[in-house]
Amino acid sequence: MSVVCSIAIFSTWLVTAPFPSVVAGSPSATTNSPYFRVVETPSNARLLAEASQNLGLDDKADSGLDAYPSELTHVVESWSEDLVYTAAEEGEVSVEIQPLLAVGNYLGMRVVGQVDGGGRSRTTGQHFVSNVDTESVWYLQDLIQPWAIPVWGKYIIEAAAAGVLPLRVIPSPERATLLIQEGLRQGHFTSEGLFIPVPGTNSSLLIYEPDPYLTDDGVLVAQAAIQQHGFVGLPVQEEHQVGDSITFNSNSEVDCDVAKCIALTFDDGPKPTTENLLDILAGENVPATFFLSGDQAVTSPATVQRIAQEGHVLGNHAWSHPQLPELSNKQIRSQLSRTSKVIEDHSGTDPRLFRPPYGAVSQSVYEEVIQSGYAVIQWDIDPQDWETRDTTKIVEQTIENAHPGGIILLHDIYEETVDAVPRIIRELNAEGYVFVTIPQLFDGELQVGTTYYSKDYIDTHSSRGG
Ligand code: ZN
Repeated sequence: MSVVCSIAIFSTWLVTAPFPSVVAGSPSATTNSPYFRVVETPSNARLLAEASQNLGLDDKADSGLDAYPSELTHVVESWSEDLVYTAAEEGEVSVEIQPLLAVGNYLGMRVVGQVDGGGRSRTTGQHFVSNVDTESVWYLQDLIQPWAIPVWGKYIIEAAAAGVLPLRVIPSPERATLLIQEGLRQGHFTSEGLFIPVPGTNSSLLIYEPDPYLTDDGVLVAQAAIQQHGFVGLPVQEEHQVGDSITFNSNSEVDCDVAKCIALTFDDGPKPTTENLLDILAGENVPATFFLSGDQAVTSPATVQRIAQEGHVLGNHAWSHPQLPELSNKQIRSQLSRTSKVIEDHSGTDPRLFRPPYGAVSQSVYEEVIQSGYAVIQWDIDPQDWETRDTTKIVEQTIENAHPGGIILLHDIYEETVDAVPRIIRELNAEGYVFVTIPQLFDGELQVGTTYYSKDYIDTHSSRGG
C-alpha cells in the first residue's frame, strides 16, 4: 500500500468518525480503533534487554559511547553537552545512554539526562535513531510527518474522554499536541508499532501501522522494527597504527625522483573563489591538493564534488579551524571525523591526508591523527598570502622559495591568491617544474602518523610529540 493511499483512507476515517463523537466512559471507540490502542508503557529494561541481545553484547548499556558509530556518538554528545550547559545552574547533571532498538540497519539510542540540585531531581530524555550503514542520525521526531502530531493529539483527547487514558482532565487540542511532542522524545519503534508515552501517565499510545505518518526514512525504520529484521551489526572500528601505509591509486606518469616536481596546496575552502581557481587549474591542466574546512565543505557540496571530479586530491583541514592542541582528544576526533564524513559524502572518497589548522600539533593531536589513520601534510614554501593579500608579492615569494619536491601553502579563499595562480604556474613551468598532487609527490604511498613537509623532509617520529 502506498503512503498516499493510506493517508486517503485515514482522512476518510476522520470524516466518518469525527472527534468528539466518543461518549465519555465508553472505551469501545479507542480499544477497537484500527489506528491506535492505549497500552501500558513498556519498561526500558525490557527494550534494553532486547536491543542488547540484538547487539550481541550483554553489557552494552555500560560500555559508553565509543562503541557506536561516530556520527551518532557526536550527536548524542552534542545533546548531552547542551543539557549540561543549560542545566548548569540547577545542579549536577548525569547522562545515561540506553540502546533500545537494534534492527536491520538501525540503532535506536535513548539518552536520559538527570539533573539533581536544591533537593530536587528532574529527568529529560531524547531518543535518537541512527542508520549504522550510512551514519545518518535522526531525532525520533524527525522521522514523523509534522501533521501527524495534532492527529495523534486527537487520539489522546479521544482516549481521555473514553476513560481509557488516566488523565485528570481532558486536554485541549493544544495541550494534547504538546503531550505528543513531549512523548515522542521518549517514543520508540517496536515489533508492535510506534509507542508514544503520554507524559504524566504510565500509558502509551501504540500506533499499529505508523507508516502513513512517517517520513521516507521513518518508514524504513518502522518496517525494520515491525518485521524484526536482524541487526546488521555495529560498524567495525578500524584500528590504525603508526607506519600503516596509506596508498593512493595514482595513474601518474610523473616520476618525482627524476622530474622537478612541486605541489600546490590550498587550505580553508571551499569558498566561491574556489570555483575560479578550479577554472584556472582546468585551463592549465594542473592538479592540486585541497585541504577543506568541514564547516565550509558542508555548505558547498557541488564544489567539493567538482574538486574531486577534476582530478584534484581532497584532504581534511578540521571542521572549524580551531587550535587543535587546545581541544580534548574527543573534540579533536570529532573535528577530524565530521570533516571527513562531509568530504566523503560529497566526493565519494574518504580523505586520508590531514593538515592541522595553523600547522599546530600536539601529542593529543597525533594520538587522534594516528587513531583515525591520517598522514600529516605540512609545507615548506609559504608566501604568506593570508597576510599580504597582494598578488604580486604572493607570486614573487612563491617563485623565490620554490625548489624541487616543495609543498606550497596557499589559501583559495582569497581573490588575490587565485589571481596569483596563473603567474605562479607559468613561471614555474618555464623553470621546468611539474605540478603534482601530494600523493603523486610521494609516489602514491604515505604513512599513518608521519609528517610531510616536502619530498625530502619527512618526519616519521612526529608521533612522539612536539
Ligand atoms: Zn587553515
